Amino acid sequence: MIQYIAIDPDRLQAMRDSGADESGNPWTLRPADGDEPLRCCLTWATPGEDIALISYNPWTQRSPWAETGPVYVHFDRCAGYSTPGEYPPAFLDYASMLNPFQPDGERAYGHITFLRPEDDHEAAVRLVLAQPDVSYLHVRSANAGCFTFEVRP
Ligand SMILES: [Zn+2]
Repeated sequence: MIQYIAIDPDRLQAMRDSGADESGNPWTLRPADGDEPLRCCLTWATPGEDIALISYNPWTQRSPWAETGPVYVHFDRCAGYSTPGEYPPAFLDYASMLNPFQPDGERAYGHITFLRPEDDHEAAVRLVLAQPDVSYLHVRSANAGCFTFEVRP
């Protein structure tokens, strides 16, 4: 079953506890405008909600493709993403890029896929993950490039 994976809650909590993200940026409260995608629970912020903008690297192993970039998360610990078997409903109409990787960790350039809001995101994920040279993928914002969530078969 395909798994849609938000940022590891324990890894995020360790950053909150240390007062900084893994790049050393202070964990700073900012009130949400209400249009920020939250990578801790895969929803959208509501206006005035307590959030933080952090620098995040979705890899846990060394990789030349290990991009570190900006993501919004809840300032305080939240419930996380509770339905990992389901494509996050909040992002089904999000202009997205599917960034796939091979089993050996190399980027699968031939299967990079851009999705418009009206495209069938679930079908596109299934198609890319069905390729024999793809073992997982990252969903990114097609407009801003920011990491959104990880998908594994
Ligand atoms: Zn959250």
